[in-house]
Amino acid sequence: MKQFDVVIIGSGIGGLICGSLLAKEGMHVCVLEKNKQIGGSLQTFTREKTIFDSGVHYIGGLGQGQNLYQVFKYLDIMDKLKLQRMDEDGFDRIIISGDDNEYRLAQGYENFIKQLLLYFPEEETAIREYCRGVKEVCEKFPLYNLRTNGLYEEKAEVLQVDTKTLIESITDNKKLQAVLLGNNALYVGIPDETPFYIHALILNSYIESSWKCIDGGSQIGKLLARNIREAGGEVVRHCKVTKLQVENGAIVYAEAANGDRYYGKNFISNIHPSRTLEMTQTELIRKAYRTRLGSLPHTISSFMIHIVLKPGTFRYFRHNYYYHRQGEIWNLADYTEENWPLGYALFVPPSSKTKECADAMTILAYMRYEELAPWAHTFNTVSEEEDRGASYEAFKKYKAEIMLDLVEEKFPGLKDCIQSYTTSTPLSYRDYIGNYDGSLYGIAKDYRDPLKTFISPRTKIPNLYLTGQNINIHGVLGSTISGLLTCITMLGNEDIIEKIRNA
Ligand SMILES: Cc1cc2nc3c(=O)[nH]c(=O)nc-3n(C[C@H](O)[C@H](O)[C@H](O)COP(=O)(O)OP(=O)(O)OC[C@H]3O[C@@H](n4cnc5c(N)ncnc54)[C@H](O)[C@@H]3O)c2cc1C
Repeated sequence: MKQFDVVIIGSGIGGLICGSLLAKEGMHVCVLEKNKQIGGSLQTFTREKTIFDSGVHYIGGLGQGQNLYQVFKYLDIMDKLKLQRMDEDGFDRIIISGDDNEYRLAQGYENFIKQLLLYFPEEETAIREYCRGVKEVCEKFPLYNLRTNGLYEEKAEVLQVDTKTLIESITDNKKLQAVLLGNNALYVGIPDETPFYIHALILNSYIESSWKCIDGGSQIGKLLARNIREAGGEVVRHCKVTKLQVENGAIVYAEAANGDRYYGKNFISNIHPSRTLEMTQTELIRKAYRTRLGSLPHTISSFMIHIVLKPGTFRYFRHNYYYHRQGEIWNLADYTEENWPLGYALFVPPSSKTKECADAMTILAYMRYEELAPWAHTFNTVSEEEDRGASYEAFKKYKAEIMLDLVEEKFPGLKDCIQSYTTSTPLSYRDYIGNYDGSLYGIAKDYRDPLKTFISPRTKIPNLYLTGQNINIHGVLGSTISGLLTCITMLGNEDIIEKIRNA
């Protein structure tokens, strides 16, 4: 019988952060992962010897002393990561149809202001007001600042601030509004819905410092898993948990699809909260709670093209591009079949071989799950292969060609640089991550009713906790903070935060 202090279901960044932190606290940890590869959205894959990130493309907050840096330093992985600092004068460049400018979002607040003033010299007051607003909101989130004794009241007042209203209140300049919102795909900003704190917490981390992972983000997962194993714990792959057995008011074991049982004192689920609750029918979880979680809206999914570039044909750059059609920044998720895509994000990942020219490129555009309805009954991952059929391949090719035509407008000659490409759809994310609809970032937040999407890491089953992007916010940073929140909730004290701050 396998008995652990903590059994963690899912090896996304949230689960691995919990596992690594708790192993460092001396606990005997076991992480159960359904896929061949650990990491969830940190997974990478290879085509023609070229490495691609399936999800994460860049990370903020990794500068010395910054929030994610401190956590990674405490966990002894910071100096082992292969990172590349992005262009300090423009980690993201916003490009808009009918406009030849590349608007730069720069690192460091003064530099951020300076770079935007090159395009908007009349707007200094508004740009400074924006920066002040972002920083002020971030200050209200104690864990984000690795501060203890934080109270809910501290942040309550900013949870109900709307992104659209706030941006429109600081400037009437439509172009500046569009630039400040240009990397919308980082958080799927929806008009009159997305709270400003989501925008602020994410943008602030990148303005503080932006980094790409050399040879992909999976290195983060591997290093965290190594920590767990070195502390005597286990990370088990190809292990899909199907049941959480409750006896005498607590979970006794997690059962895998192959019948193996993993006994534990505590359980942490890193998968979608509703999926977690589907694994146990205990009456400790009220029907109303299940219904509420099941009814929460998710962020939209995406379609991605992963391109192997012909050697020596496309110059490498240390920034990303975010494109949108003029006037459509708030409608990106609201496309029609005729006008898709209204925007895209373009990333060139660095590899240890990269010099002057890029080896690879990934382009991402929003795509609704419903578009994949004809193939929704299929399931395909590397460990459970199924051919989704010729019509699916034709759909992907059709969409890829539309996207490439659009990208070619801003990057003339790109098509000639393509050696080969592969695509991923909402179904790829659904099957690899184990969610319902391939959602990019899980449960969507809404400023009009902040408590509705607030999910506590604690559940009514006393030894079951939740973690990951659906608790707190998404992203490598957001899910890491979520992991911290889960650990301090489980341990009943905030000592870990002090240790991280002093690492
Ligand atoms: C396309 C895309 C691009 C992104 N780009 C960025 C970016 O550039 N920067 C950034 O910071 N963030 C980015 N994100 C967001 C970020 O990757 C996620 O928010 C974060 O990685 C989610 O972590 P998580 O802890 O919630 O776990 P997830 O990554 O959701 O992982 C959950 C894990 O649980 C496993 N699992 C599910 N069901 C079971 C089961 N029954 N049994 C066992 N295991 C199970 C899954 O296989 C998976 O490994 C991106 C996300 C996507 C999808």
